[in-house]
Amino acid sequence: MESYKELEEAAWKQGLCTKCGACAAVCPAGTISLGGISPVYGGNCKVVVDNIPCGACYNSCGRAHASEPGKYNLKFYAAKSRTRAPYAQSGGAVTSLLVSALGSGLIDGALVMGVDRFTQEPRAMVVTTGEEVMQAAGSRYSWGNVFEGLGDAVKNGLERLAIVGTPCAIESAHRIMSSNLDVLECYGKCIRFTIGVFCSGIFGNIEDAVCGERDLEKWQVKKMEIKDGKVYVHLKTGIKQVPFSKVKDDALPGCSNCTDFASVFADVSAGNIGTGEGFTTLVIRNDSGKALVSNAVELGNITLSDDVDESAVEEAAQRKMDIR
Ligand code: SF4
Ligand code: SF4
Repeated sequence: MESYKELEEAAWKQGLCTKCGACAAVCPAGTISLGGISPVYGGNCKVVVDNIPCGACYNSCGRAHASEPGKYNLKFYAAKSRTRAPYAQSGGAVTSLLVSALGSGLIDGALVMGVDRFTQEPRAMVVTTGEEVMQAAGSRYSWGNVFEGLGDAVKNGLERLAIVGTPCAIESAHRIMSSNLDVLECYGKCIRFTIGVFCSGIFGNIEDAVCGERDLEKWQVKKMEIKDGKVYVHLKTGIKQVPFSKVKDDALPGCSNCTDFASVFADVSAGNIGTGEGFTTLVIRNDSGKALVSNAVELGNITLSDDVDESAVEEAAQRKMDIR
């Protein structure tokens, strides 16, 4: 009978944990917390203490298992959003996908990482309206637990969720959705779409590093973008650059063992590599991703073109594999 011990051996002790938060979110005993470099066990595992079968934490973890994404004829697009969100990243396509899916009833909520605009601290949010999606727009490069709201979302009756996350979070979501375990079923059946963001690594607190480097107040930061070996800090008054080398040592330890750049377990992946300013690269990976994107196109909320440099995405993916 699997318990937290298998997860501890397979992920925590191996330095593979990326703190995606899935194991803590699904533990029925609430005995896993995310305070340290790896999750922390609180001593109340149902298996160990009460001899009740569980294994939810171990089976939800993408890092504890070797998995293969499904085969699909991938489609790459340059997407431009017509949804105006002031904080949205580059093309803003992810914001548009969510607004469109909520508007059409494809989803009734989404798990996303928002941010406190004053402190720039990431905040997990469960958004259920287009306005909330707009407020949460933009990429986060510092650590946050996107699964934090999963339990409450399900308890509150949301049953058609999308999740927007880093590749590790999306791989864990994929495991939850495809698990046969009863204890995971209540979560898995409520996640309908997964949107994975391109990811070179997540940081402890990148805002401290860049604001310290450029003598900026955090509330001045509108959004950040990592591209071409630089961190671009968008302010209301212009853009400042910080070399990536100034922040790279702040990356989470588990990220140094992650080889997934393009969120290969997502229904649709999104990022800023392969397209120019004002566009989002979208990679449709299965029929669910196709439905999500087609819905936004049909509503007129995004436009698609083939003007995308697929090799740039593949090279970025290879670079991440090579340096691990
Ligand atoms: S990678 Fe995620 S699910 Fe796996 S141990 Fe770490 S926090 Fe838990
Ligand atoms: S109760 Fe279940 S999810 Fe929680 S630590 Fe034990 S095996 Fe893992």
